[in-house]
This record gives sequence, structure tokens and C-alpha cells, in this order.
Amino acid sequence: MDMAVPVKMIPQTDPGASYRAARDHIDAAMLRVLESGWYILGEEGRKFEAEYGAWLGAETVGCGNGTDALVLALRGLGIGAGDAVATVSHTAVATVAAIEMADALPVLVDIDPDFYTMSPADFAAVLEKRPPGVPPIRAVIAVHIYGQAAGMEEILAIAKRHDVAVIEDCAQAHGATYRGRRVGTLADAATFSFYPTKNLGAFGDGGAVATRDAAMAAKMRALRQYGWERRYVSDWAGINSRLDEVQAAVLRVKLPGLDAGNARRREIAAAYDAALAGTAITPPARRGGCEHVFHQYVIRVERRDEVQKCLAAQGVGTGIHYPVPVHRQPAYADRLPMGPAACRETEAAAGVILSLPMYPELGDAELERVCAALRTL
Ligand SMILES: *Cc1c(COP(=O)(O)O)cnc(C)c1O
Repeated sequence: MDMAVPVKMIPQTDPGASYRAARDHIDAAMLRVLESGWYILGEEGRKFEAEYGAWLGAETVGCGNGTDALVLALRGLGIGAGDAVATVSHTAVATVAAIEMADALPVLVDIDPDFYTMSPADFAAVLEKRPPGVPPIRAVIAVHIYGQAAGMEEILAIAKRHDVAVIEDCAQAHGATYRGRRVGTLADAATFSFYPTKNLGAFGDGGAVATRDAAMAAKMRALRQYGWERRYVSDWAGINSRLDEVQAAVLRVKLPGLDAGNARRREIAAAYDAALAGTAITPPARRGGCEHVFHQYVIRVERRDEVQKCLAAQGVGTGIHYPVPVHRQPAYADRLPMGPAACRETEAAAGVILSLPMYPELGDAELERVCAALRTL
């Protein structure tokens, strides 16, 4: 292979392509903000919140990033010191970091190996038999990982039985549905990230919290800016986490294309399914009655290094989301309580998962090149 003509690498993700695809509109929106002289919490932010809220079906409050969005949701629900919050170890480390930023204790629950989302059985088990020394679990963060909804019906029912608040981490799932309803509208609060590679991405950091509870929305709106409801009056001890006007303007340009972008992601996923049909690799499982938005298309391969190298040699970039579970990270190892399943499925997944190229601007010719490479596996 090393004597082959060098092939142009198809990246695993390509946020720059989303800029090039809408360059004139993006440039105009950014210039409009720069020339307006108003850079933080102005008209663009207000309009984006209204437009995103209308698209989603829940009141939306912009903030600095998806991690802060989780902190705002937790603090908006009154969760903090002396409380525990359940979530998964198979997630962006941000989910767990946010719980500690809100002064609460993360409790890590295992995943369902088919969907990579929270195991309702392990969640129920950790609530029924709390590990020694762990304070009451007052909230759960369900992560809709890779663009597919978690098992919300089960999670919501278990949470209700134990009087636990539910937050949806939708950082990878803008537009996904669960039994006909959009994720982000199913629980007490929901959080979004607009990091450049997400399904709706800014050209910098951005995030949002959403809720259908007007009082909760007002509280989170105050908390994102020093706890102000009125200028210079802090009704709560807040933080500073605002969505800036430039990013809000960019997101307003990109929002109308989100559904089409998700449709293209599904088209790419279907092509990968077909290409893998003749191989030993099983396509990712889809939860019945739910619409997946394929933030990532993830396969399981036992000899991952070998497969990754073989694809790279054919010009196909891949990624691993995520190679090391949170409870194995140096900063968290051996100090966070876990459910009785001890995150065994999480660890098994981390060793074999591989993410294929996935972004809406991936062209048909490139897609065919990826599929041809997959057929050789
Ligand atoms: C990206 C991501 C976050 C964090 O978002 P940032 O905007 O990077 O802070 C949180 N949770 C999940 C599941 C994510 O993928």
C-alpha cells in the first residue's frame, strides 16, 4: 500500500465545508453584527432564540457552550452541593464535568450495548440501591449519543418513581425524534451545543438550554448572566455564559438548513449500511419509532487499529467517540460512584467503536469512495 499514489484524505468531519457551502450568507451575517456595534445579547441572539425555540417546540435560552448549558439546567433545577446526578460514562467528558461544575456528585451508569445510550436497568438499580456514601440522586442526564434518542420512556418512568428530575443532553441530537416527538421537549430541561462539528454548528463556541416551563426558562435566562433579571440586580448567584451576537447570526443562517443536513446524514448512513451488507460488520442499530440524525455513524470492529489503518490507506478518515470512558480518565478514575453494572458495556464499547466520515457536505463521489473502502473490510 505504501507505494500507492497518495489519495486525498476524506476527513471524518469537516466544519469548514459548512462555511464554504454558505460563504456569502455567513460573511454578510457576520459583517452585519460587526457593523452594528452590538456584540453580546442583542437582536441576533433574541431572534435566534425565538427561531430555534419555534423549530424545537420549547423556550430556548442561548449560552456560551453545551457544557455551560448543562450547568444552567442543573442549577435551574436547584441541584448543587449535597446532591448526586446520574449520567453515563460513555459520553463527551463535558457531561460529567458539568455535574461537578454545578457542585454535585456524578454517578455513572452503564449503557445499553445496542444503542450506546443509558441502560434503564442499571439506572433503576443504582436508584434502588444507592452506593454507600452517595447523597440522594436528584437528577439524571440522558445523553442522546451519536444522534439517537435514549430510551426515554423507561428513563422518564424510573425517574418519576424516584422523584428525580430529567435533563436531556441533546448536544449530538438536534432534530432527532423519539416516538414522534423531538428530543429536547421530552423532559424537565434539555441542552444543546453548537460546537462547530455538531449537527447545528457555529464558527466558535455556542450552546442553549431549552424547557417548556416558563419559570424555569426565566431562571436559566437570569443565571446565564450573573443572576440578573434586571440589570445590576442579582436575584440568583449566576454565572457568565452568553451566546455572542456573531455566533447567533451564524446560527440563524444555518438553522433553516438543519433538517436538510440531517436528511443528508441519514442518506449517507443508508449508503454505509448497504456497503457493509456484504461484510462481517453490523450497521449501527436504530431504535424503533425514533428518527436518528447521525451525528456519528459508529461501527464495532475487533481489530480496530488494523481497520483504521486500512481505511486511512484508502483515503478514508475515521475517529473514535470516545476512546477512554470518563471513569477511566486520569481526572476521574477511581473516584466516581457507578451503578452495579460497573460500566462493563461502556468499557467493551470503548475498545471497538469506530466513527466513519459523517457531515452533510460529503459529496456523492467521496461517499462512493468511502463505500468502496468499506466493501473491502
Ligand atoms: C459536545 C458535547 C457536549 C459539550 O458541548 P460544548 O459546546 O463543547 O461545551 C456535551 N455533551 C455531549 C454529549 C457533547 O457531544
